[in-house]
Amino acid sequence: MQRKLLDILACPIDKHYPLGLLEFSLREGDVIVDGVLTCSECGRYYPIIDEIPVMLPDNLRNRKEDLGFLERWSSKLPDGVVHGGKPWSL
Ligand SMILES: [Zn+2]
Repeated sequence: MQRKLLDILACPIDKHYPLGLLEFSLREGDVIVDGVLTCSECGRYYPIIDEIPVMLPDNLRNRKEDLGFLERWSSKLPDGVVHGGKPWSL
């Protein structure tokens, strides 16, 4: 995702704005390839995978994929997300 997209993204659950952003990998042109968006209001995290921010309500999220994401990036994610992020954590 383009970093400037952060200016318009809000949490799909509580509409909190702005979201926190951590970047794991980038490509040219300020495009975030892997990263995470976090909501300080409700504690949810939203993975950015292959440039796409995955911002779904809890009932449409894939628990197995989310936990795989947390494991993959656990060294770069804050402890609060890895062990206490919502809707599920490691
Ligand atoms: Zn939220």
